[in-house]
Amino acid sequence: MSRHRLLLGRALVLVLLLAPLLAPSRANAAGQRIELRVLVVTDGSAPVEALRTVLSRTGVPTEVVDLREPSRRPIDATLLAPDPAVARFQGVVLPSQAPVGMVAAELTALHAFEQRFAVRQLDASVVATAAVGLAPVTDTSGYSGPFGGGVAQLSAEALAGDFAYARGPVPFTGDDPGSDGAGPWVEIARPLAGFRPLLTATAPGGRYTGALAGVLSTRGREELVLAFSYDDDSTQLQVLAPGLVGWLTRGVHLGFDRSYLAVHVDDVLLPNVRWVPGVHCTPGADCPPSVPAPPLIRMTADDVAFAVDWQRRTGFRLDLAFNGSGSVAAEAGSGTDPLTTALVAAKGEFGWINHTWSHLYLGCVRDTTTTPWSCARLPILGWTRYASSWTIQSEIDRNVGFARRHGLPIDPSELVTGEHGGLRALPQMPDDNPRLADALAASGVRTVAADSSVELDSRPVGAAVTVPRHPIDLDFDTATVTETIDQYNWVHTSRADGGDGECEADGGCQKPAAPGTGFADHIVPVEAHKVLGHMLTNDPRPHYVHQPQLSEDRTLYPLLDRAIGDYRSWFGEVRPLITPTMTQAGQELGRQQRWAQTVAAGRVQAWIEDGTVVVRAAGDATEVPLTLGPGGRGPDGTPFGVPYGTGRSGWAPVGTEQRFTAEVRGQA
Ligand SMILES: [Zn+2]
Repeated sequence: MSRHRLLLGRALVLVLLLAPLLAPSRANAAGQRIELRVLVVTDGSAPVEALRTVLSRTGVPTEVVDLREPSRRPIDATLLAPDPAVARFQGVVLPSQAPVGMVAAELTALHAFEQRFAVRQLDASVVATAAVGLAPVTDTSGYSGPFGGGVAQLSAEALAGDFAYARGPVPFTGDDPGSDGAGPWVEIARPLAGFRPLLTATAPGGRYTGALAGVLSTRGREELVLAFSYDDDSTQLQVLAPGLVGWLTRGVHLGFDRSYLAVHVDDVLLPNVRWVPGVHCTPGADCPPSVPAPPLIRMTADDVAFAVDWQRRTGFRLDLAFNGSGSVAAEAGSGTDPLTTALVAAKGEFGWINHTWSHLYLGCVRDTTTTPWSCARLPILGWTRYASSWTIQSEIDRNVGFARRHGLPIDPSELVTGEHGGLRALPQMPDDNPRLADALAASGVRTVAADSSVELDSRPVGAAVTVPRHPIDLDFDTATVTETIDQYNWVHTSRADGGDGECEADGGCQKPAAPGTGFADHIVPVEAHKVLGHMLTNDPRPHYVHQPQLSEDRTLYPLLDRAIGDYRSWFGEVRPLITPTMTQAGQELGRQQRWAQTVAAGRVQAWIEDGTVVVRAAGDATEVPLTLGPGGRGPDGTPFGVPYGTGRSGWAPVGTEQRFTAEVRGQA
């Protein structure tokens, strides 16, 4: 054997030894076509279903194999890569590393596919074993047990890569003060050779520190394993989700996500009636005639000064939905209204939305002789009586006139009607007011608010679209902490706990919030968690409260401080909160809904080949959501979309075919 051959032999051995380490970074080798779609293999368990939900709300197309279906497709070369140069999936999600219901031949075929195309695999929830690169938990090493309210930490490697949008702490959903629900379970274990920790934590009591998520590299494959439980409402998943999607797809995929928060404050300039604690009733609605009505609630000039100061400190803008008639009524007494003066002086500090002149209900004409009220009907004919076109237009236009007179910077094409009136809402209004669509068009309204608890999707009303808004559960008739706790407990607890018991119907009863402390230690965390749940799930729908929440005890601020503060302690400045206007929220919701239909109908094909993303749309031009790496470029060669999180993303109009330049992560 010549010396030359010997050296070559040594080099070959070296290459073979390094191969398992090097191969995973060799993504999308030359000439390979990787289709932009994720394979989700589900057994119906909560974690894998939660990942499926994350992919779907991000806009990532998936193909689902349900292991519970007897007639399901086999996972084989026909499914994965019918053409040896084409991968039908860019990533694979499994319930665990070897789920029950997948036969050995299927795992072998899947692993060979992943190795050949450098396709990554995400295991939704695993137990620490050598098979996932973690030492099994024993009496003396590791921790296996509950972790509710615990905080894990992203590793330096994670923060330098796909999780660079995060600050590091990953909070685990705590035991909800309102329920008896069990918190998440974790395994914290010692990493074995080939396992790179992404998430570490110290067990409760400080007994052990180890890994609970990371990447196992074996034989040219990469598998990201999560050794904890969660569902789609879990904070730990919501904080990790952008990084998990980024890792799985190497930062290049259809779809994108943002963190949105807009808060509308309704009824500004009007007074609101006040809840009566102890009697549990609202004057003018359901209080017995013997109960004297307490004073009305209305913001003061001091409340405006506080709001301005809070906004400047927080860097967050509230949107005020106002009713001009409230100002006129207040001036009628003394000739001036300090609230109007203060708001007009600070007009540039807020967003402003037309909430109609006098908050008239714009649905049917109400017959209040019955409880609950019903729609008045024409005698003999029996037709429902509705607010007229003239009434609707005058309620819109008079308030636009008020804004013009005072220089309030509104967009007159945006409207919130009183009680979302005019739109269908059961039981009384199965259909929209038939005059509504034309009246909106005549007044130039293009975006009208709806209630997300009545209808979650945006829909057209004539030429306008609805923007469903999420109610924050601080009610319009409460301004003090005492009133808020009393009203909250009445609505959310069982009869045995002193509530009205309506929550018993769907098993949604909470434990009562304690008098005095219950606002801070119960209502604020429960409601902030709900708001965060929308902020962390690509949901552009605005939230809404009412002006009493800015008055007296100013109950909105602790809740927003908690939600915004938590967000900013978990996410870095590369992933800022976005506050959409109503128009922007409506556009984004419409695009998301149309994209979901496009994906379901299979009207878009996309793949990546040699660093180029090709998107093909069947039929007419389609708006396609797309995430490329930080160096991603559009068809004209300019930087694509906007930078957000760890990549560049945005909507791309695609006619027949468009080409984009991607920057694939994890490539040598
Ligand atoms: Zn209102």
